[in-house]
Amino acid sequence: MSRWSHRHIIDLSNFSLEDYRSVLELANKFKALPQTGARKLPTLQGRLVTTLFFEPSTRTRSSFELAARNLSADVQSFAPTSSSLNKGETPLDTALTYVAMGADILVVRHSSPNVPALLAKSLEKAGAQTKILNGGDGLHSHPSQGLLDLYTLAYHFNSKEPTTNELIGKRIVIVGDILHSRVARSNLWALTACGADVVLCGPPSLLPEAFTKFVDNPPPGQTLDPIGQRGKIFIIRSLKEALHGADAIMTLRLQKERMNQNLLSDLYRYHVDYGVTHESIKWCEKKVPVMHPGPVNRGVEMSGALLEDQSICLVQEQVTNGIPIRMALLYLMASSEINEH
Ligand code: ASP
Repeated sequence: MSRWSHRHIIDLSNFSLEDYRSVLELANKFKALPQTGARKLPTLQGRLVTTLFFEPSTRTRSSFELAARNLSADVQSFAPTSSSLNKGETPLDTALTYVAMGADILVVRHSSPNVPALLAKSLEKAGAQTKILNGGDGLHSHPSQGLLDLYTLAYHFNSKEPTTNELIGKRIVIVGDILHSRVARSNLWALTACGADVVLCGPPSLLPEAFTKFVDNPPPGQTLDPIGQRGKIFIIRSLKEALHGADAIMTLRLQKERMNQNLLSDLYRYHVDYGVTHESIKWCEKKVPVMHPGPVNRGVEMSGALLEDQSICLVQEQVTNGIPIRMALLYLMASSEINEH
């Protein structure tokens, strides 16, 4: 396994192919642990992992906490509704409070993009050794979801050896509210890095043309793209055409909480045009898996029947795989002693 070079994990734009390989390799070992009879590893004994979620979460927070416990870390959890946020405390002061209590890793979720990155910078400036793992920031990035989706796909294509090689030349269709989705953005970095082509499908109000160029340049503040050649990104507006030749489908929730104008007037019409169902997946011409990061609006982005059909729908498997992926991330961060980004 290569040397891990990320002090904090904020975004996947700076991940090399080696980074993806290391995460998938380690996650695959952790996924197999229950079969060996080992439920817990002592690796992070004495370390404190704090989940600092300023925005609601069902899956990500509990998955990180379980992952940390599986590595024998101590776990501390911040609840925004009963905290001093209500008394006007800033996210930085909240973070510094947990740093003062000895947090080694802060897993941060916030509705504003870049809060985890700003916290990372401010903590470094303050001389704190605490590392930041982004648990989802606004519409910017959700690295652990992008990685668990990548692993779920690699595992689906080859459960014996789920490596990044499984993505080479695959056609992955992402359908829905791309504009507001941090999950789509993280998947775009991860999938194209591993050599998959991505077809984006959605109405213009939720999928601007500029997304075809999303990975063409590293984001501000990052000088180089560590990936030599990425897969391509296409936009196809018709679901029928987009699904033609697909190897997998990712559906996305309509992020109503991030829409500051009424971008969709008719949910029924949206379901007819972009909802993924047993009927529409026939357009793929072969059996392909359907994913969704959750929470799902049943009957909007995916039919209830498809959601419950575990021979096609990988939603539960995504949740299950989130634990070994997050164990891998915590392990890599906690065991590296580097000080640069
Ligand atoms: N759970 C994912 C996220 O936090 C997806 C969603 O909320 O739709 O971004």
